[in-house]
Parts: sequence; structure tokens; C-alpha cells
Amino acid sequence: MNSAHYDAVVVGSGFGGSLVARALVRAGFKTALLERGQWARRDDGDWDQSEILLKQRYRGTSPLLIKQYGSRDFQRVYANEVVGGNSVFYGGASLRLRPADFARWPFAYGDLAPYYTQAEQLMGVHGEAGADPHEPPGVAAYPHKAIELSAPARRIYETGQALGLQPFKIPLAINFSDATRPLCLRCITCDGFPCKVEAKNDMASTVLAEAQAAGLQIIVGAVAQRLLQQSGRVEGVEYIDSESRQSYSLRADRVVLAAGALGSPALMQRSGYDHPLIGRFLMRHCNGVVNNIFPFRTNPEQVFHKQVCFTDFYEDLRSELGTAVGVVQDIYSPAPPVIRHHTPWGLQTMAGLLAGNMQNLLCVAEDEPRAENRVTLAGESDAFGMELVQVEHEYSENDCRRRDYLMAKAGKVLRKSGGLFRYRHLIDSFSHAVGTLRSAHTPEEGVLDADCRYWGAENLYVADGSFMPTSGGVNPSLTIAANALRVAKRIVATR
Ligand SMILES: Cc1cc2nc3c(=O)[nH]c(=O)nc-3n(C[C@H](O)[C@H](O)[C@H](O)COP(=O)(O)OP(=O)(O)OC[C@H]3O[C@@H](n4cnc5c(N)ncnc54)[C@H](O)[C@@H]3O)c2cc1C
Ligand code: SF4
Repeated sequence: MNSAHYDAVVVGSGFGGSLVARALVRAGFKTALLERGQWARRDDGDWDQSEILLKQRYRGTSPLLIKQYGSRDFQRVYANEVVGGNSVFYGGASLRLRPADFARWPFAYGDLAPYYTQAEQLMGVHGEAGADPHEPPGVAAYPHKAIELSAPARRIYETGQALGLQPFKIPLAINFSDATRPLCLRCITCDGFPCKVEAKNDMASTVLAEAQAAGLQIIVGAVAQRLLQQSGRVEGVEYIDSESRQSYSLRADRVVLAAGALGSPALMQRSGYDHPLIGRFLMRHCNGVVNNIFPFRTNPEQVFHKQVCFTDFYEDLRSELGTAVGVVQDIYSPAPPVIRHHTPWGLQTMAGLLAGNMQNLLCVAEDEPRAENRVTLAGESDAFGMELVQVEHEYSENDCRRRDYLMAKAGKVLRKSGGLFRYRHLIDSFSHAVGTLRSAHTPEEGVLDADCRYWGAENLYVADGSFMPTSGGVNPSLTIAANALRVAKRIVATR
């Protein structure tokens, strides 16, 4: 077993891990980043819907065991694994939470606001300050102007206005304007796909490349197995090389967990940490898509149109339910082969033919933190001899109520835009997973303190979406990114 010593080791290269690692390296810390995935290939296959959505070319080797929707059984689901984590597949929507979303957090919106600004700068967000009717304070200006709306997006935007709503352009972390980097080609394989030309400002294309040049050691295909500990301190990380299956250990003065809201609690459990709330309060948003069939081709030029957002309904149920409702956003239609694949036998040909007449809206609804929704370890082991990650999740009635509220509003917009037939598609994914190592005022209420440090070990931090005490009503990446910058500053201050 090899051994090397670092000022910091970071596990996981999503938003949380990459941004912490970049900040630590820039502050002069000798830092290593462990990531179980490999670099994305950035070839034609990355924009091929069958390769990505059906064949799942980045699927990992270890399945998650998932029990949900009232089922008694666990099903095997394979998540993607790649350097940059879910940022490589994400849609670039970069929204801040609102001050009221912080009611149950150990810090306030104002504490995160400067880091939101930094994150927007670092991720090159294109947006339109002042256009969001529920915009939180402090969005003075985005680093880049929002681009013009494409025809399908304009259809939704203008209909929203005609209905008396206040649609606005989604702030997007995509490179539309910096000619020193690859520019966006405005294609329709963005949300859910790696960007072949690296114009999406994902962590691998931007932050990690820069951090690596500054000295960050990125170890890919490195599956963190457990944290090494002594006398209440974490001493390093043991990992397995996914190809050779050899074990290695890295010694470190501090460790930052950023293996995602499913991976980080599992790693703590495997390492023997026993805080009773580790893995609990898993959230994932309660999301659905309203699909409409139009009497015309909705996007004949096949252009980018994930551009319009509605926050009009964000606060509608706050006084009754104590949460946000959420947001409605433009989203793509899958290609005919993908639609056929997911359509019941007998309707497949018809569904494939109608794919080009479809336009859809995504509804992202806040879900409640409930202790019974959790991540644990299964008795069964994976190919590396590590216990599989087991997920149990059920939505509450109020989660579904918030989602259905948004879906009804989205349905009205689509109908008024000319949609004839409507159907609903509920999203079954953990792409917005957060909350399993919640930060809190006291160790009785959460696993981490307000600085996202584990209550039981002064040199163990968490920087991914696990820290979130509530999910709020907007897509999570910008909040994870901002918090990672905040945590990095705290870590640097401990030196
Ligand atoms: C298709 C899609 C579209 C999305 N669109 C948006 C959007 O438009 N806007 C938005 O805000 N959010 C969006 N999201 C959600 C967003 O991408 C996630 O919330 C965010 O990326 C989570 O970041 P993270 O740092 O918490 O974890 P992750 O991105 O999950 O990163 C965790 C990393 O740790 C690695 N890892 C796990 N276990 C281990 C281990 N044992 N050893 C080593 N490495 C390990 C994983 O491989 C992964 O790379 C989208 C997600 C998906 C999937
Ligand atoms: S829309 Fe732009 S950023 Fe997104 S995948 Fe296409 S080229 Fe890349």
C-alpha cells in the first residue's frame, strides 16, 4: 500500500469537490482530488441520445439499490461516473435560493450571497439581473448578458406574458461569449449530455483544468473506500484503483467529502462514523414534465431552447406549507428513438412520429426533509468488495401537491401556446439529491456545523449537496457551488 501526505484530500469532483479543490490549491495547499469516474470522452457519442440515454456509456460499475414509490423491493440503478460529476450532464441553470429558503439553515442568505456572486463569476453565468420577479437581493449584474431567445423559447416566453406572468431568461453557465474558449453551438443535446466541444461550463472543462494547471493532483478511477482515523481526527483516505483493484492510501491534514449526497454519507458509514443522522433527510426535489403535442413542428431547426423560467408561483404556498413551491423551466424533447423506448408497446410508432410536435415544461418542486428518506449500506458487496449504497425514499403528500400545483400552471402555459394534447411525465431520478449530511446549529439536529465540518472530527469537512438542510425550490448546483467556496474559505482560515 503506497502512502503520500497532503495538506488536503478531496473526494469527488462535482461542483462541491472541484470548487473546494481549486480554492485550496490556490491558497497554497498541497491537494489531491480522488474521483471514481474517468474523463468524459468528448466525441460524437457524447451527443448521441442512444449512447447516453439508452446505452448509458458513463454508467458506473457499482449499482445503487433503490426502494421508492411504495415498492417493497430494492431495484438496481446505475449512476453515471465521470470527472466533473453531474456538472458534466447538467443543464447549466444557475439560480440562487431565496432568503426565505434559509429559515431552517444554520446560516442566512446574506452569509452565502457574496459566494453566490463569486460562483456566478467563476461559472461564467449569462443572465438578466432584475428580470426574475422573486430575485433575491445582491444580483447586481450577471457576468455576461443573456442571449436572445430561440423560436421555441420565445413561444413560451410570449405566452407567459400574455397570461400575465413574468417569464425571464434562465441564468445559464454556458459559454456563449468568451472567444478564448470553445463557444456554444446552441444544440439540443445539452441537458443530460456531456458537451462534446466543452462549451458547457462544467467542472471538468473549466475549474478542474485551471486547478490542475495550478498544481491540483487529480487521481481518476480512484474509488474512495474509507476514511482513515485516529484519536477523533481523520488522517487520510484509503482508495481502490478501479482498473488494477489495488489499494492505496493518501495521508492528509484534512479531508473534504464531496462524493455527492448518496456517496458521501455511504463513505462515512463505511468508515464507521456513527452520528445517528448520517444518511437521513435525503431530498431530491419532486419533479415532473408536462408534455404537449402541438399541431405543428415545435422546433424544426433543432435549436437550443432551455431558456425560459417562471418563478411566479414560488411563494404561493409558503404561508401554508412553510416551503417554496418551485420553478417552471423550458426543457428539451427527447429524440424519437428515446421516446419510442419509453412508450408502451403498440404506441411506439405513433409516439416516435409525434416527437417533433412536442414541447415540454419542467417543474422543479421543493420536497420536505424527512428522516425516513435515507442512505444506508446494503449487506451485499460490489466488485471492489465494498458494501453497496442503499437508498430508501418516499415523497410526502405535500411534495406531490407542490409538484402538481406547478404542473397545472405549466399545463396552462403550454395549452395557451397552442398545445392540443397534454400528458405528464414524473421524473424518477436522484439528479437533484441533497441533504444526507445536513448542517445545523447543534449536533442533535444535524451532522455538520454551520461551516460544514463534521461535529465529531475537527478536520473533516463536507462540500457537496449533502450539507443542505432543505432543498428549496430551485435547481441546486449554484447553491452547492457557492457553499463550497464558503467552506473552502473556512478551511483556509484553519491553517
Ligand atoms: C441531467 C442533469 C441535469 C441537471 N441540470 C441541472 C441544472 O440545470 N441546474 C442545476 O442547478 N442543477 C442541475 N442538475 C443537478 C446538479 O448537476 C447536481 O445538483 C450537482 O452536480 C451535484 O453536485 P455535487 O458536488 O453535490 O455532487 P456530484 O456532482 O454528484 O459529484 C460527486 C462526485 O463524486 C464521485 N464519487 C462518488 N463516490 C465516490 C467515491 N467513493 N470515490 C471517489 N469518487 C466518488 C462521483 O463519481 C461524482 O463525480 C442536473 C443533474 C443532472 C443529472
Ligand atoms: S448547447 Fe452549447 S453547451 Fe450545450 S452541449 Fe450544445 S454546444 Fe455544448
